[in-house]
Amino acid sequence: MARYTESRCKICRKEKIKLYLKGERCHKPGCSFEKREGKGKRGGFQRRRRPSEYALRLREKQKIKMIYGVLERQFRNYFERASRQKGVTGESLLRFLEGRLDNVIYRAGFAASRNAARQLVSHKHITVNDKSVNLPSYQVKPNDVVAIKEKSFSRPFVQQMAKQVVKGEGADWLQVDMKKGQCRFTDYPTKDKMELPIDEQMIVELYSK
Ligand code: SF4
Repeated sequence: MARYTESRCKICRKEKIKLYLKGERCHKPGCSFEKREGKGKRGGFQRRRRPSEYALRLREKQKIKMIYGVLERQFRNYFERASRQKGVTGESLLRFLEGRLDNVIYRAGFAASRNAARQLVSHKHITVNDKSVNLPSYQVKPNDVVAIKEKSFSRPFVQQMAKQVVKGEGADWLQVDMKKGQCRFTDYPTKDKMELPIDEQMIVELYSK
């Protein structure tokens, strides 16, 4: 499975925004984004000339790809599927990304980051509607029930992952039963509930050129 190998903290520094790619650590003083922000020219962010419209749109696309851990080709496929949907393309694009199984696991609070959620899925610890699924990109649909397998739930590393979850991140479009390690995906969230530092319209404009 192809994935990003660049240091996650470096990605945040490059995008000049906290993208919360490391789970628990992102919420602690150890976050290297906060440490470096505001430093002088040598260690911190440097002033550059104003970026072009194209560069700004490109950065929005890069940010969203990093947040969801999606590579270029896969992202392009999501965009093409979204543009064939009725309604606003940017919103459809976000719905496809939010419906990814690894994202649902993360949003439910079963893992501290999308990356950790991806590991749970690809190591076959997850079921959807009682069927084992090991594809992180699997699209969860409204009313699907996503669960950690019973025998996996008691395993120390799964328990450890759940402990690392930052309190208050549970999404209200998921009915989560933490004791059973399962959740029901009630519906797709609206953009305001996703709390994403993204302007999806800029991504649509980028691909429309
Ligand atoms: Fe980004 Fe998290 Fe690293 Fe902070 S700790 S720079 S938020 S990945």
